[in-house]
Amino acid sequence: MSRERLVVVGGDAGGMTAASQARRRRGAEDLEIIALERGRHVSYSACGIPYWIGGTVSSVDDLVTRTPEEFRDRYDVEVRLRQEAVGLDLDARKVVVRDLDRGGESRLGFDQLVIGTGAVPVRPDIAGIDAPGVLGVQTLDDGEAVLAALAADGVRRAVVVGAGYIGLEMAEAFVQRDLEVTIVEAGPQPMSTLDPDMGVMVADALVGLGITLQCGEPVTAIETDPDGRARAVATRSREIPADVVVLGLGARPNSELARSAGVSIGVTGGIVTDARMRTVSHDGVWAAGDCVQTVHRVTQGPVSVPLGTHANKQGRVAGINLGGGYATFPGVVGTAVTKVCDLELARTGLLEADAERAGFRFVTATVESTTRAGYFPGARPITTKLIAERRSGRLLGAQIVGREGAAKRIDVLATALWNEMTVEDIAGLDLSYAPPFAPVWDPVLIAARKAWEAVELDISDRYRAR
Ligand SMILES: Cc1cc2nc3c(=O)[nH]c(=O)nc-3n(C[C@H](O)[C@H](O)[C@H](O)COP(=O)(O)OP(=O)(O)OC[C@H]3O[C@@H](n4cnc5c(N)ncnc54)[C@H](O)[C@@H]3O)c2cc1C
Repeated sequence: MSRERLVVVGGDAGGMTAASQARRRRGAEDLEIIALERGRHVSYSACGIPYWIGGTVSSVDDLVTRTPEEFRDRYDVEVRLRQEAVGLDLDARKVVVRDLDRGGESRLGFDQLVIGTGAVPVRPDIAGIDAPGVLGVQTLDDGEAVLAALAADGVRRAVVVGAGYIGLEMAEAFVQRDLEVTIVEAGPQPMSTLDPDMGVMVADALVGLGITLQCGEPVTAIETDPDGRARAVATRSREIPADVVVLGLGARPNSELARSAGVSIGVTGGIVTDARMRTVSHDGVWAAGDCVQTVHRVTQGPVSVPLGTHANKQGRVAGINLGGGYATFPGVVGTAVTKVCDLELARTGLLEADAERAGFRFVTATVESTTRAGYFPGARPITTKLIAERRSGRLLGAQIVGREGAAKRIDVLATALWNEMTVEDIAGLDLSYAPPFAPVWDPVLIAARKAWEAVELDISDRYRAR
């Protein structure tokens, strides 16, 4: 039997997890693996970049899970850095590769291909957006550029464009570095991934941290100084001086390479795969990570959710299948967690607006509680909101905003949601209790009880109305 060649395009969570899983199942005599990465690092944690910039993580090396040498020695995977795939000829089964340091292009044949090209950060098409001093935080190289900008003399004011989770994490990093921080957000409130009543708590907390928050103000231009460097962020109503500008506007699937080769792309812009992460359009062509489209388990609709948790799982599924095993990716429920200083935020499932769009009728319950027994030192506030389907009481979504110890409670709710539990079932769960960890009624249980009361009230109101 002749040796097959697997080429992986994109050397981070999706691509490299697929490579290492495939290797676990197929030896080097059976499968040659070559990974192409246009950057200078593979297998890194972009998620850690804000904490590196803020100083919590001291070295970039801590963010690299495995070096190219480790891939070679441990997995017999050949990593080629600074090599960009610029074209795919899927009929001839070749990747067109550009050498970014030396220049020039070559063609690399493959039998199996994994596309793990990740996401592209959103950059608004406005004047000055490409000026020096306007920075992204997608890769470790970006992180290095932010640190270099902060090291310059006289840097005191940072403006973060976008109040999603990356924007908030960057705001925290800049607060930790004692900068004056402004967040500019086009929407009416920070964290559009939370309902407005929960987002307003985030807004209050940001202001409490000394961050200036300008919501409802799309950025119209980046103003530059005579040298062409960013000096201010302009909105329709103001100009905010900036020594450094960071973009945190979200990301969309980086699927252009696949699209131009004829690979099927879905309505979200992500590559369409089956549950085993095989592209639906081409045999032997797989995709994993931020570049793919997946299924939301509550709405059953297509979504692209650029999170490391999915990229790793999808890469693993692709690698197991490539290696001759069997695995499927089951979809997502939209679980996410973040923090800004000591404020923790978490969500899973649908927001009210998502539930309405999907045609669900629902009730909500929001409860204020504490993370530990109220009398126990360190008890901190936590607000838990549940959205439950009318009549059935099935949990549709949950959100948490609170202080230390609050956010990870979302995992109980995500598990319940995944298993299509009702809020009545959740209210009866045998969750742990001791004063240092929770009140005797955990906030999750109280919220579920209140939500079930709302479901019952709704049923009896409608019964009476008949
Ligand atoms: C600042 C920040 C914080 C985050 N925090 C979290 C978090 O807390 N939790 C969480 O779950 N997720 C988080 N994420 C998201 C998470 O990092 C991504 O979902 C994950 O990295 C996706 O992995 P991936 O392999 O699909 O894509 P990427 O990590 O984007 O990797 C794709 C790789 O492909 C390379 N590439 C692209 N095109 C080509 C080409 N044509 N040729 C060669 N190479 C190419 C890119 O250089 C890149 O290295 C964060 C992201 C950022 C930016």
